[in-house]
Amino acid sequence: MNRWGVDLGGTKIEGVILDSELRPVIRHRIPTEQEEGYGHILMQIKSLVETMADKSGFDLPEQIGIGTPGRADGGDGVISNSNSACLNGMPLLRDLREVLRMEVLIDNDANCFALAESMLGAGRDEMAWSGATAFGIILGTGVGGGIVRDGRLIRGAHGIAGEWGHNPVPGENAKCYCGRCGCVETVISGPALERYYAALSGRKASLKQIAASMGRDGFARQTIDRLVEKFGVVLAAVINILDPDIVIIGGGVGNIRQLYTPEAREAIAKNVFNHSFDIPLLPPLLGDSAGVFGAALLAGPPLHSR
Ligand SMILES: [Zn+2]
Repeated sequence: MNRWGVDLGGTKIEGVILDSELRPVIRHRIPTEQEEGYGHILMQIKSLVETMADKSGFDLPEQIGIGTPGRADGGDGVISNSNSACLNGMPLLRDLREVLRMEVLIDNDANCFALAESMLGAGRDEMAWSGATAFGIILGTGVGGGIVRDGRLIRGAHGIAGEWGHNPVPGENAKCYCGRCGCVETVISGPALERYYAALSGRKASLKQIAASMGRDGFARQTIDRLVEKFGVVLAAVINILDPDIVIIGGGVGNIRQLYTPEAREAIAKNVFNHSFDIPLLPPLLGDSAGVFGAALLAGPPLHSR
C-alpha cells in the first residue's frame, strides 16, 4: 500500500507518496505562506494533497501523516511550541481531518526524523534486527529527539519520550525559553554555541565559521571542545536509560565532525554507567527528505523490522 506524508515547515510544505517498497513515487512542494494565516495554511495543505493525487493518478488515501515542529496535544492536536507562530493554539489535527476528509496522524519533526533515518536512512541495516532501538537526535537551532523500536515510534504515556533537549545539564544555569535553567538546548544548540563563542571572543561568528576556524582560533577550539565534553555528559544520561543500538545525529550541530571522533566517544564513555561505549554514532543519510519521509511512515501499518 502507498503511504502519504506531508512535512509542514515554516517556509515550505512538502508532500511525498511512498510505494509499498517505501520508494518515493511523487514528491511535490509549495510555499507555506504563513503570513497569510492559519486558514491559508490549511488550504495550502489541501491543495498539495490534491496535486499529489492528480500527478500520481492515485485515489486520495484513507490516512495521511503530517510532520511539523512543535507539539500536537490532545484529541484535537492543538499545536504549541511551533516556530510557525500562527499554528500555536490551533487544533491542527481536528481541522486537517475536516479539510482533508481523511484520517490524519501528526507528529513532530524530531520523531519524523528518527523514524525516517532509522528505517530508511542511516539505521537501515542495524534496525533490521528484531528488538533494535534507535535514538534519533535533532541537534540544531533546538534540541529534540525521537525513539524508534521495531519500526515504531515510542511516544511514551504523555508524548514526550525522547525529548532530551530540556534535561538539565550539571553546572549550567542559562535561562531557557521553557522556563527552566541550564537545559541541554541552552548549552549545545547552534545558537547556544554561537553565544558562548561571542562571549569568549567578543566576536560574532556562525557555528560553521567557528567549526572551520578551530585550527587557528583558540576561542573556536574552546567552544567546540566544550561542545564535545557537554555532549558526552548529556548523551550518556540518555544512554543510561535507553541503551539504544544506534544513535543518529541530525541538525546543523550534528554536522560538526568532532562529534564523531574518538575523543567524543571517550567523552560519552566516561559518563556511561558501565564506562564503555560501543554504540554506533551515525550521521543522517536522507538530508532534507527525512522530515517528509518520516511523515509518510506515520501513515499505514507499522513498519516491523525486516
Ligand atoms: Zn528548556
